[in-house]
Amino acid sequence: MGKFPVFDAEISKVKVCRRCKGRNSINNEKCRRCGYKFLRSKNKVVKRKK
Ligand SMILES: [Zn+2]
Repeated sequence: MGKFPVFDAEISKVKVCRRCKGRNSINNEKCRRCGYKFLRSKNKVVKRKK
């Protein structure tokens, strides 16, 4: 969870292409720009040191 819950929800709906870094819908199985199959979900995992 970041500072803005709405923004987090928006980010979790997006997948990012590993090749061209294009943003795709979470429903897309491959990139709509370059057709690359491997998309990662754009979730921000913030590791904080205590
Ligand atoms: Zn792509």
